[in-house]
Amino acid sequence: MENITASELAGFGVGALLLCATIAAPKVDAFISSAQRSSLGMCKQCGDVKLIPCKRCKGVGSVRPGTMLGFDLFGDLFEPYGDSGSTKRSIPCSNCQARGHFRCPECSKASL
Ligand SMILES: [Zn+2]
Ligand SMILES: [Zn+2]
Repeated sequence: MENITASELAGFGVGALLLCATIAAPKVDAFISSAQRSSLGMCKQCGDVKLIPCKRCKGVGSVRPGTMLGFDLFGDLFEPYGDSGSTKRSIPCSNCQARGHFRCPECSKASL
């Protein structure tokens, strides 16, 4: 009863990992291999979410002007002229029509 076995410890570890994975799902998403998804019967592209987040706006649907390729490289480092805030406003992402996501091509291809 009071003995904690290695397998129990491993179980805790896996549980913690799963919890983290759930919380940080978007970030860990790339770590979940397509092979694992297909073995679970899930869509390889989207994991059965049917949606793929927009890479440009990171699924938010809007981007800040000056951000390029999703990198906020200059946003915090480089304040242009202390300007009145117009550059701070988010603009609708033109990549995804401000939806923040796309229909999964795999699912829309295979959907009934
Ligand atoms: Zn977008
Ligand atoms: Zn899909």
